[in-house]
Amino acid sequence: MQKIVIIGGGLGGLTAGALLSKKGYPVVLLEQHNIVGGSATTFRRKGGFTLEVGLHEMDAVHDNQSTKEPFDMLGVYENIEFVRPDEFFRVTAEGFDFTMPDRREKALSALKERYPEDASGLDRYFNLIDNLASDIERVQHARWWELMLFPLLFSNLLKYQKLSVLDVLDELLENEELKLILNANIGYYHTAPDTFSILYHSFAQSHYYRYGGWYIKGGSQKLSDYLASIIRENNGTIHTGSEAVSIATEGKTATSVTWKKRGKDNLEKADIIISNISPAQTCALADLAYQETKKTASSLLSVYLGFSKNLKSVYGKQAYSRFFFPGVKTVDDYKALLEKDITERGFVFVDYSQIDAGLCSPDKSVASICTTDFIAPYLEMTEDEYKQKKQDITNAYLKVLEEHYPGISDLVEISEVGTPRSIQRYLRTPEGTAYGFAPSAEQFFRKPQVQSPLLNNVFFTGAWVIGGGFSPAVNSGNMCYKAIVKGR
Ligand SMILES: Cc1cc2nc3c(=O)[nH]c(=O)nc-3n(C[C@H](O)[C@H](O)[C@H](O)COP(=O)(O)OP(=O)(O)OC[C@H]3O[C@@H](n4cnc5c(N)ncnc54)[C@H](O)[C@@H]3O)c2cc1C
Repeated sequence: MQKIVIIGGGLGGLTAGALLSKKGYPVVLLEQHNIVGGSATTFRRKGGFTLEVGLHEMDAVHDNQSTKEPFDMLGVYENIEFVRPDEFFRVTAEGFDFTMPDRREKALSALKERYPEDASGLDRYFNLIDNLASDIERVQHARWWELMLFPLLFSNLLKYQKLSVLDVLDELLENEELKLILNANIGYYHTAPDTFSILYHSFAQSHYYRYGGWYIKGGSQKLSDYLASIIRENNGTIHTGSEAVSIATEGKTATSVTWKKRGKDNLEKADIIISNISPAQTCALADLAYQETKKTASSLLSVYLGFSKNLKSVYGKQAYSRFFFPGVKTVDDYKALLEKDITERGFVFVDYSQIDAGLCSPDKSVASICTTDFIAPYLEMTEDEYKQKKQDITNAYLKVLEEHYPGISDLVEISEVGTPRSIQRYLRTPEGTAYGFAPSAEQFFRKPQVQSPLLNNVFFTGAWVIGGGFSPAVNSGNMCYKAIVKGR
């Protein structure tokens, strides 16, 4: 069996590694951080808090074929518990408040009740995103002859491939408030609806409406650790605190990876290399000339909070994930907010006490605030300015929360801010993104690049293959596995 060396232990690298080691391939995984998981990690803080780095909700855990197939093969459902929040999300904006129910039919009828003038447009919107999501799923599993007939069998994908979410909503709907609501969670994927790919939007949103959003009980680290345990149980090796620093090549073949641990160089011979980092970073390791033409996705800022009390018992039943858009009534207002200072931006407040998240003792709670962000301003700050900025951000967001959860600031036991600079530090991603390439209308629809065009035996997995998010990263690991096993 060919020896596989994996660079990076994010969800993509771990999924590919677990599948391949289970199939009998010798796997060595190199992870520069001292834990595996990348964005799918948690960290502990005093007071008994486990803080979730990234996961708020992953889509369609049981029904998305691309997630189900690898999860079935790896026994994920028997070993990891998934929890489903009661609603999709709540939006609190300027002059209106709307809770998007869980499940498609309930969501659709709540929207129609609120916006009856757009009832038929809403029907068309929901049918369209479902159809596009099915086509995307279908194209991933298409046989060669189906791909030959692509223009006939997937005419909708061709029609919508370059359209933005707003292009489509403007065609279907009148109410500007409604357009904002349907995009409330866009910050998880992209910056603004006028450039966001309708295909990506449809795939993600349709799955959330139809099959729910899910949290991993105990935190996303459970899934990452479980995948790592499969690699180890199948005689694979995982080196943490081990950074890949170069790839040796002979012609178009990669032959080994040099990695550094505590300042010492080590060499790992490889028949196949899987890269869980960006194509540009991979090429740089192999000293190959490569100019990336695609734009990188935006980054995220998170404020991680541990509370001395259980928020649900203090404030009662609230939404698990609630978007606050101060001063925002329309998509245009939302876009304008992105230009403002980070302290004035809208955000999502994820209150893990609303579900059985298992992140702290039942008398306390954990929450996180998250918003779209960009790395540039943080790179120019001195350490003192950076520290101060983090404090200002926490204060500004807590002030907004105070209006809806009076006294919440007094319950904060611990708080910590993770900026795009922190993501870059912990994940080493370009521009501190967690989402790979920007899923914009102009560049999202493309053939996923699973195998490197420059090196025959280098494969890719992770957010750079299809797009960001838990499901696409897991799916990309499965695609990478299949490409390697098929070519064996
Ligand atoms: C704050 C936040 C919130 C999020 N919320 C959600 C959500 O609610 N739902 C959802 O579906 N998705 C969410 N995501 C996105 C999702 O977590 C990611 O898109 C996905 O986990 C990326 O997986 P990946 O396989 O690309 O690996 P990554 O997570 O990017 O991991 C790559 C790994 O490679 C390692 N590495 C880098 N360079 C080297 C090197 N030279 N040598 C060795 N190792 C290296 C890094 O340390 C890292 O562990 C969120 C992300 C963040 C940050």
